[in-house]
Amino acid sequence: MSRYWSSVVHGLTPYVPGEQPKLEHLVKLNTNENPYGPSPRALEAIQAATGSTLRLYPDPNSDALKAALATYHKVRTDQVFVGNGSDEVLAHVFLALLNQDQPLWFPDITYSFYPVYCGLYGIQSKLVPLREDFSIRAEDYLPRFNDQAGGIIFPNPNAPTGCLLPLAGIERIVAGNPDVVVVIDEAYVDFGGDTAIALVDRYPNLLVVQTFSKGRSLAGLRVGFAVGHPALVEALERVKNSFNSYPLDRLAIVGAVASVQDEAYFQENCQKVVATRQTLVEEMGQLGFEVLPSAANFIFARHPSYHAMELSMALREKAIIVRHFRKPRIDQYLRITVGTDEQCRILLDALAEILGG
Ligand SMILES: *Cc1c(COP(=O)(O)O)cnc(C)c1O
Repeated sequence: MSRYWSSVVHGLTPYVPGEQPKLEHLVKLNTNENPYGPSPRALEAIQAATGSTLRLYPDPNSDALKAALATYHKVRTDQVFVGNGSDEVLAHVFLALLNQDQPLWFPDITYSFYPVYCGLYGIQSKLVPLREDFSIRAEDYLPRFNDQAGGIIFPNPNAPTGCLLPLAGIERIVAGNPDVVVVIDEAYVDFGGDTAIALVDRYPNLLVVQTFSKGRSLAGLRVGFAVGHPALVEALERVKNSFNSYPLDRLAIVGAVASVQDEAYFQENCQKVVATRQTLVEEMGQLGFEVLPSAANFIFARHPSYHAMELSMALREKAIIVRHFRKPRIDQYLRITVGTDEQCRILLDALAEILGG
């Protein structure tokens, strides 16, 4: 606290990211990073760009990346917005599109950055409870005569549950809310969902946000993007150009373009994670865990006879880090990133030992 702070700063509750420990030799399964490296072609492109051109500002519009993403997703370049990770894209989305008179609707259990942005921008929110089984019920997001959202946002698959709402449910929500923007945060869609980008040409109120951090193994490069109607993209550009007109640096642009162009590596990488997830879910089940159906690169699991907090501390003593949230409804769950087969083996052996001892 300081008397020099503005009243906005006094009122903020910042997001607390998963720990990035400086220790090596940890089995780090707490922040949903991809266990495999980025595309070798992305690394080569980044290397090739580390010359004297770094003295020059990057392209303020990241045209090469927008063109690559437009081609990949079969949309026009004026339907694509890019930013430094999807967290930055989301920040612009909250200010440009979700800051309305009516409250923003999102699930009671979801990505914890949403309430943080509401606090930063002074946006009222309404928490919509997930079903008992942690799935999203599309009907809960339809307007009623005296209850109308100012905007709607949720991840699909949802975080930290991993549960997927099929595209028909997304379309129901988008079609049922023609007067407000519906934002689908697809950070994990590469591991089992169908992207709602297929719907953007039919619904001018739909914005889909994706990231290079999970499926494309580029969390350290900070690249995210949004796809939607050109009018929504224009709103984002207006905010971005009032804040920082050179968002993506030269290395990020070339690395992201090369990643998009290496489809074979991307598919193989995602399939490996999905295969490991399947084994992990089965073996966790054998240890007595209840695991929610996951379409993401993490699982959300509880053990009926052990406290999640104690399990996470016991794992930490064995140099394995997983994520535990001290929040209502989910404080008995652990969120565990799908690592390599070897990392998952170490985790399962450690859990067997903890439960047995
Ligand atoms: C990881 C994640 C993001 C942020 O990704 P970055 O592009 O790395 O900023 C956004 N939304 C959800 C739900 C995530 O899990």
